[in-house]
Amino acid sequence: MRTATQLFIVPTPIGNLEDITLRALRILKEVDFILAEDTRTSGNLLKHYGIEKKLVPHHLFNEHKTIENILARLEGGATCALVSDAGTPAISDPGYLLVRSCIEAGLRVECLPGPTAFVPALVNSGIASDHFIFEGFLPHKKGRHTRLTALAGEEKTMIIYESPHRLVKALVQFTEYFGEDRHACVSRELTKIYEENIRGTLKELIAYFEKKTVKGEIVIVIAGKG
Ligand code: SAM
Repeated sequence: MRTATQLFIVPTPIGNLEDITLRALRILKEVDFILAEDTRTSGNLLKHYGIEKKLVPHHLFNEHKTIENILARLEGGATCALVSDAGTPAISDPGYLLVRSCIEAGLRVECLPGPTAFVPALVNSGIASDHFIFEGFLPHKKGRHTRLTALAGEEKTMIIYESPHRLVKALVQFTEYFGEDRHACVSRELTKIYEENIRGTLKELIAYFEKKTVKGEIVIVIAGKG
């Protein structure tokens, strides 16, 4: 059955393959084609759920070039779903440009609710979740100091994505802006076998992680300025 929606944004699991909604599976089966950040990763995911569907590459490096063609197909009556490697597309992943272009073209866009790493990290942290800001990945070099200086006065809980090999360096840097006694939580490998949520002051988190080789995917949640 067709709906009036042309573009579906479909969140996929961030680890545990049980974390996909019944509606997401139905939409993935029904659409004419699926735009995927990495066709191999998403191909494996679809295979797991027994879905056979044409996957079209759509990632940071081609999105500007492919949008025109995608819009033409959607305007012609086709329907498609956008998935990323994990979690919700357009959250620190490609998607925003396509969503904006579809809206501008008068096409109907629908984002399904579903997995994303920052929500369980925030809730698991035990740090105030009534007001928060999502920073995604901080800039690496240029702009990092400016961003962290602005965040030093931030009163809301802050959520940051970071890579495992930069975790300790980032935590040490955060002590310079937030103080070593600021409360924080590092969520690693959410929904996976080796999930851990380590809570404490920045100083305590550094002491815990500097003794290890940090692997896996990381979200850092930092309390706002008290
Ligand atoms: N679109 C995704 C989302 O909705 O969360 C984010 C994609 S971004 C390219 C990848 C980053 O998300 C990782 O580097 C990590 O910071 C975070 N992430 C994704 N899966 C995770 C997991 N299972 N545990 C902890 N962090 C995760």
